[in-house]
Amino acid sequence: MKIFEYSPAELTGKSFDCGCGYIHESSIKSISICDGAIKKLPEAIRSSGAFSAFVVADKDTFAAAGETAVSLLQNNGIECRICIIKADKGFDRPEPTEKALGNIVMSYDKDCGAVVGIGGGVINDLCKLLSDRARVPYVYVPTCPSMDGYTSDSASVIYNGVKTSLKCKCPDYLLCDTDIISKAPKKLLLAGIGDMCAKTVSICEWRISNLITGEHYCDDVAEIMRRCCKAAVKYAEAAVHGDKNAVSEIVKGLCMVGMAMTYAKSSRPASGVEHYYSHLWDMRCLEEGRQCELHGIQVGVGTLLTLKKYEKLKKAAPDKERALLHINAFDKQAWEKGVREYFGSSAESIIALEEKEEKYDRQKCAERLDIIVDKWDEILKIIDEELIPYEQLYTLFKKIGHPTAPAEIGESDESAAKAFSHTSDIRDKYILSRLLFDTGISL
Ligand SMILES: [Zn+2]
Ligand SMILES: [Zn+2]
Repeated sequence: MKIFEYSPAELTGKSFDCGCGYIHESSIKSISICDGAIKKLPEAIRSSGAFSAFVVADKDTFAAAGETAVSLLQNNGIECRICIIKADKGFDRPEPTEKALGNIVMSYDKDCGAVVGIGGGVINDLCKLLSDRARVPYVYVPTCPSMDGYTSDSASVIYNGVKTSLKCKCPDYLLCDTDIISKAPKKLLLAGIGDMCAKTVSICEWRISNLITGEHYCDDVAEIMRRCCKAAVKYAEAAVHGDKNAVSEIVKGLCMVGMAMTYAKSSRPASGVEHYYSHLWDMRCLEEGRQCELHGIQVGVGTLLTLKKYEKLKKAAPDKERALLHINAFDKQAWEKGVREYFGSSAESIIALEEKEEKYDRQKCAERLDIIVDKWDEILKIIDEELIPYEQLYTLFKKIGHPTAPAEIGESDESAAKAFSHTSDIRDKYILSRLLFDTGISL
C-alpha cells in the first residue's frame, strides 16, 4: 500500500523507506478522529507515563473542551495545572509570539508529567514548543478545524518580528473529537478549508523548485496533498452546512497535511507563495498593532491571488536578455531601503538572512535562469497539471462564504501587491516571486 492510501490513524507507528531517498516516519503514537475522542485523554496521559498534566487553553477553548478535559483527568486521579492564555490588549486572540510562549513557560510547573493543549493552531504551536523544550509528552485536543498544523513537527511562530517555522516535536497523542470540532464557529472551518485548498499552489511550486533548484521532492508525499486538496473541495459545502461526516473528512485532511510536512522534513508540501501573503500580513499587523485575520482565511485569499498570477504567467515567456538585464540591475542598497520601509523593526533580521541565503546573487540567478529557459515547457506543464483553475476555486469560496478578496480581510489591493513583492525576502524557498525575479517577468 502506498503512503497516501493510509488514513491518519493507520499511519502512526509506521515508517516508509521511500524511493525518494527519505525514510518517511512520524513520532506520533496515536491519532483518534471520532465523536467523543476526548474521553481517551486520561488513557493517553497514562500511556505517556505521566500522572499529572499542564493544561493550556484560552478562555473560549477552555469553555469548548477544557472544562471537560480537566474533569476527565481529575476524575481519573490525574492532577492538573491549568494555564489560560490571554490575548494582548486590543487583540481578540493570542498570537504565537515570544511573549505568549514566555507566559506559558513562566506558568509551567516542571513537576507536570505531560502538556495538554486544548485549542487551535496558536495553542498547538506554543504547546509543541513547550513540550519539546521541556522534554515531556504532549497530548493535543483540537477544538476547531482551522489549520493544518495538528500533526506537524514544526511550530509557526513570530520570532524577532519574522514569521518563522521552528522545528519541534509533533504531539505524541492527537485526540480529534468530532463532536467538539463540528461545533466550532463556521469561520474557523472556512479557515481550515482555505488552508487545504492552498496545497494546489504548494505542490505546484514544490515541483517547480525541484526542477529549477534540485530541491528534494517526493511524489508520494505530494500525492497526499493532492488528495487532501481534492477532499477539501469535495466536502467544503457539506461541511459548512454542518454535515459531521464532511467535517470529519476535513479534519482527516488537516491531519494528513501535518504528517506530510513531517515526512518531507520541511513545510514545503504545505506552503508556497500563497502562505507568504499570510506571513507578511501577520508581520505587518503585528508591526501596526492590529489584529490579523485567521491564517487559513489569509491563505485562502492568497491562493486565489496566486492562481490569478499563474494564469497570467502562462501567457508570458522568459527572455534571457531581458532577464539578465533585470538580474544585473538589482541594487542591494535600494533593496535594503525597501525592506526597512516595509518590515520596520524586523528588517535587520531579513537583511541578515539575505547575507546568508544570497537569493539575489547575480551568478546564482543567472544559473537558474539557464535552467528556467531550458525547461520552460516543463514548468508550464506542471502549472497545468497541479493548479485548480481560478474560476473554480473562486466559485466554491463564494458559495461557502470564504472571503475572496483582500478587502474582505482588512487588507487592500495595494497591501496585497506590496506583500507579494516582499514574499521572496523572508525565507529561502523557491516560489513564484523568485521565479519572476530570475526571469524579469512582471505580472
Ligand atoms: Zn518519499
Ligand atoms: Zn497553512
